[in-house]
Amino acid sequence: MKYIGAHVSTAGGVENAPVNAHQIGATAFALFTKNQRQWVAKPFTEKNIEGFKENCEKYGYLPEQILPHDSYLINLGHPEQAPLEKSRNAFIDEMQRCEQLGLDRLNFHPGSHLKKTTEELCLDTIAESINLALDKSNGVMAVIENTAGQGTNLGFSFYQIAHIINRVEDKSRVGVCIDTCHAFSAGYDLKSAEGFEKTWKEFDEVIGLNYLKGMHINDSKKELGSRVDRHDNLGVGTLGIEVFERIMKDERFDRIPLILETPKTELWPEEIQKMKDLAG
Ligand SMILES: [Zn+2]
Ligand SMILES: [Zn+2]
Repeated sequence: MKYIGAHVSTAGGVENAPVNAHQIGATAFALFTKNQRQWVAKPFTEKNIEGFKENCEKYGYLPEQILPHDSYLINLGHPEQAPLEKSRNAFIDEMQRCEQLGLDRLNFHPGSHLKKTTEELCLDTIAESINLALDKSNGVMAVIENTAGQGTNLGFSFYQIAHIINRVEDKSRVGVCIDTCHAFSAGYDLKSAEGFEKTWKEFDEVIGLNYLKGMHINDSKKELGSRVDRHDNLGVGTLGIEVFERIMKDERFDRIPLILETPKTELWPEEIQKMKDLAG
């Protein structure tokens, strides 16, 4: 059973996300629980929370079909104390917002060292940030997204992600989201059949498939190993369509949200239908 959808808008209130997902034929969706480019958000109203839960029930979305994404401003590995505190507080707030909505996971970009600390210390800081957030929330899993490795962003190798997970105290509340574009840009050859198998074998050995709690389904505008994060629509980028067919036919990716973050959003209904067709 595959869950396929896209990162939908919450314009007018978070309760509109499941409606927007339903309208494009999605069986999964992602959302921002607050404006992703601002630090502070108004708390949810009863209307937001009840409306969200009602609409999820109405259109048949379970928590395992929903993958909220955190704000782009947050850097849980920030090398300086004041901005690190700010990021940690914002992340805790987002974990609690997910909890209020009855959701069970929050997807985030691990963090950046900004050339002011070592990779290892930055990864340790990220793990400690996760521990603090898990302490201050209930029932929500912190889901680490792999990155393209652009700039000083960490989390582009499976070893870096494993390093973080190893230092998280409650391993039942940490997971991983693999973005296909980011993985390809980071040097994981998902395009060829052998590369695809090799990548997932390495994922299983280094991290463990049991940690996979979601995927971002994106083609890439850039080449393998470019370390540049530019999403493309399915089948028109450097990855090509075959990788998405492999994903849709593979049981390892059952029952997790598979989320489109492709740039031409008007193509989402078509892309979702295409992915359903590829599943056979
Ligand atoms: Zn992301
Ligand atoms: Zn992504």
